[in-house]
This record gives sequence, C-alpha cells and structure tokens, in this order.
Amino acid sequence: MKEMELTKTFYFDAAHRLSTVDQDHKCSRIHGHTFRIDVVISGEVNEEYGWVMDFGRIKEIVNPFIESLDHEYLNEIPGLEIGTSENLVEWFWEKLNPLLPGLKKIVVWESPKSQCSYTKQ
Ligand SMILES: [Zn+2]
Repeated sequence: MKEMELTKTFYFDAAHRLSTVDQDHKCSRIHGHTFRIDVVISGEVNEEYGWVMDFGRIKEIVNPFIESLDHEYLNEIPGLEIGTSENLVEWFWEKLNPLLPGLKKIVVWESPKSQCSYTKQ
C-alpha cells in the first residue's frame, strides 16, 4: 500500500512577550496570537480500514495539549518561557512524538504569514 500523509489543523489563542529581545522590539511587549498548529502523520494506508489513522484519534491525542495553552500566558508554561514559534514546535514535538506513531512534521503558524516547522528526517 502507498505511504500517505495526514494533516490535522488546530488553533488556540494565547499571549506572550519575548523577554530576550531589546525593549524597543515590539515583541518585548505583551501581545497575543491566534496560533495554528498543523500535525502531520505519515504511514501506510491500512487495507482493512482504508486509512492511515483516524483523524478523530489524532484530535483526541492533540487536543489536551491545545487546551492546556488556550487563553494562557505562554511565559508561565514550563518550556515556553521564551515562546517563539521554534520553541512551540519543540514543545509540541516533545509532547506528541511519544504518543503519535508516524508523527512526521509539526508546523506552528504564529500569523497567517509566519510559520516554523520541524520534519523528522
Ligand atoms: Zn508574538
């Protein structure tokens, strides 16, 4: 069977400030984002079910982490004290990789025009 990729998209709203940038940098002030997270699973299509994985199962696994960040101040979340897109990718990868067989890629969009991703090699 062919190997295929599934992508499931999640959103959450959260505030942060970047304490590591100069005070005149706009990100040094507290502000919010509607973050978008794309979770990409790759694997062979199961012949019996006709799918790689149930989208609903991906949601069950990812949603608790999305909810743990929704309407929170990221600077107060362990691992996200410096809440860049890069560190959010790392945070999600560390949480989801042990739980999601076939996890291939995580994309964090901090705006519709700016995203960061990690792909397993
Ligand atoms: Zn920001």
